[in-house]
Amino acid sequence: MVDASGGIPYRVRVSRRARRLQIQITVHGEVEVVLPQGMPACVVPEFVARHRDWIARTRARQMAACPRQACEPALPHEIRFPAIGARWQVQYRWGCGSGVEERPATTGSGELVVFAGTEADARRRLQDWLGRQGRRHLTPWLQAVAGELGMHYHRVSVRAQRSRWGSYSARGTVSLNRALLFLEPDLVRHLFVHELCHSVHLNHSPQFWALVRRFSPDYRRLEQALDRAVPTIPHWALP
Ligand SMILES: [Zn+2]
Repeated sequence: MVDASGGIPYRVRVSRRARRLQIQITVHGEVEVVLPQGMPACVVPEFVARHRDWIARTRARQMAACPRQACEPALPHEIRFPAIGARWQVQYRWGCGSGVEERPATTGSGELVVFAGTEADARRRLQDWLGRQGRRHLTPWLQAVAGELGMHYHRVSVRAQRSRWGSYSARGTVSLNRALLFLEPDLVRHLFVHELCHSVHLNHSPQFWALVRRFSPDYRRLEQALDRAVPTIPHWALP
């Protein structure tokens, strides 16, 4: 991304096939200028500035239609984990190292500095960090709920999953989606109850639901809320 005259950030893609200068808006609302090969790049800033109104209109239309990716920036500037009441402001440092630094490192909220070479690299670093956060917070929480219910599991695995919040295997492994951090605490607890009840009934029989109800009386509403929350996982956090 570079800064155009007119203040609209854009990037340039040189194309062998294009015959004229074009502007395209990506699904993330970014402006991409298609420059025919051989045409001098110095014509671009003025071209972008001249199409300022068209760019604004097209972006507004995308936002209104709102496939979620269009409304969401590719990389977040703020990350909230309602599950644990944490909130991070995110800054990016381009081209100097690779990694994620928490400032201050002790409070579990604050400022996150992402060091990366490219947007794709930054997203990978953030995803790795999300996985570490998931293991750090969800693992002891599951253990606490298991203790409260008097139930046992063999091991826990915190993973990146697109469409399920958790699962329980016949070997006693509870798999948890690291994106549970984006949910409200009562939903996370209910998911834990659901998976732990599978340590008694390895199915969704009436006996299983009766057991779930004992620990999570409002389970019907919570199950529906979990289903509805799947599409709310931020785009950057999806594997
Ligand atoms: Zn289940």
